[in-house]
Amino acid sequence: MPRPILATIHPDALRHNLARCARLAPDAKVWAVVKANAYGHGIERVFEGLRAADGFALLDLDEAQRVRDLGWRGPILLLEGVFEARDLELCSRLGLWHTVHCDEQIDMLAMHKTHVPHRVFLKMNSGMNRLGFRPQAYRAAWSRLDALPQVGEISLMTHFSDADGPIGVAAQMAVFQATTEDLPGERSVGNSAATLRHMEPAGTDPGIAAASDWVRPGIASYGSAPDHPEHDAAHWGLRPAMTLSARVIAVQALQPGDTVGYGSAFVADRAMRIGVVACGYADGYPRVCPTGTPVLVDGVPTRTVGRVSMDMLTIDLGPKPDAGIGSQVILWGGSGDAVVPIDAVARAAGTVGYELMCALAQRVPVTVD
Ligand SMILES: *Cc1c(COP(=O)(O)O)cnc(C)c1O
Repeated sequence: MPRPILATIHPDALRHNLARCARLAPDAKVWAVVKANAYGHGIERVFEGLRAADGFALLDLDEAQRVRDLGWRGPILLLEGVFEARDLELCSRLGLWHTVHCDEQIDMLAMHKTHVPHRVFLKMNSGMNRLGFRPQAYRAAWSRLDALPQVGEISLMTHFSDADGPIGVAAQMAVFQATTEDLPGERSVGNSAATLRHMEPAGTDPGIAAASDWVRPGIASYGSAPDHPEHDAAHWGLRPAMTLSARVIAVQALQPGDTVGYGSAFVADRAMRIGVVACGYADGYPRVCPTGTPVLVDGVPTRTVGRVSMDMLTIDLGPKPDAGIGSQVILWGGSGDAVVPIDAVARAAGTVGYELMCALAQRVPVTVD
């Protein structure tokens, strides 16, 4: 029997979450963001669930190839654009749209031989200082692109640093709008947090809807709240797209004073039953999760105790006295009322849901339900 650990991908949840984002931006087209192998879920596994999207956005060229291999004929956007000149040949061959964020990428385009003009998304650095042209340089970059026979339609985009928090998007929106006001072309500004928090008709910034011919939800499609813990996924009506589950493979009866695991990090203050679960940090479960991190055993909420080790972790069976070897443990995800939010586990580990889903280990078998 294989080791009893499994990740399950839920296409219905993907479909539901994507539709939820689309409803919040009813006039926008939707990029399903599937970079990083669909945030660890697997591009091939999420494709059916996300195919109602208007396009797929990602950044590895081999991932673009994989989306084409799945039969997708619609738009694919390279969010970081090309990395070297010959990448443009693949863009021509596969019909990829690509971001242009620096002069070097325009230089490459100017040298590129193509019969079909490329659709590009010109990226503005409106304050995040990661990718893009500064506002003062943006219009010159637009004119350079516009003059190239290799370039067809030019779309305008930027990315928010603070859509999920108190700083918000207003300052970056103002810069973007002031700079692009009279430029033609479609606009794309919002990630999940901007779509959930700022897009609704009564949202904080009506400018966002106007600048959203395309929205770019990633994390929300996978059922994690970008602004946890201010809001949880349930607040936004999102469902987990991945469940990580494993089984109890051993049980220990502890006496008061007994300890559990490496470093004797947990000390029993009373008699208790402990379940040893076939999931550890080599599966992608964070080692730093402390005693008290939530899990479900046979559907009943309980907690981890002691240190997470490479292949195992330990849980308190107190709330479920009849649990034993073979009992099912949900580490994150689930469905209906039986859910461990990935964001709650991430928070216990001092990180975000994004990192946990992306770090699901290769050795964990994955199925699609
Ligand atoms: C990753 C990414 C997104 C999606 O962000 P989420 O927070 O996952 O919604 C959108 N736009 C760009 C440019 C990205 O790189």
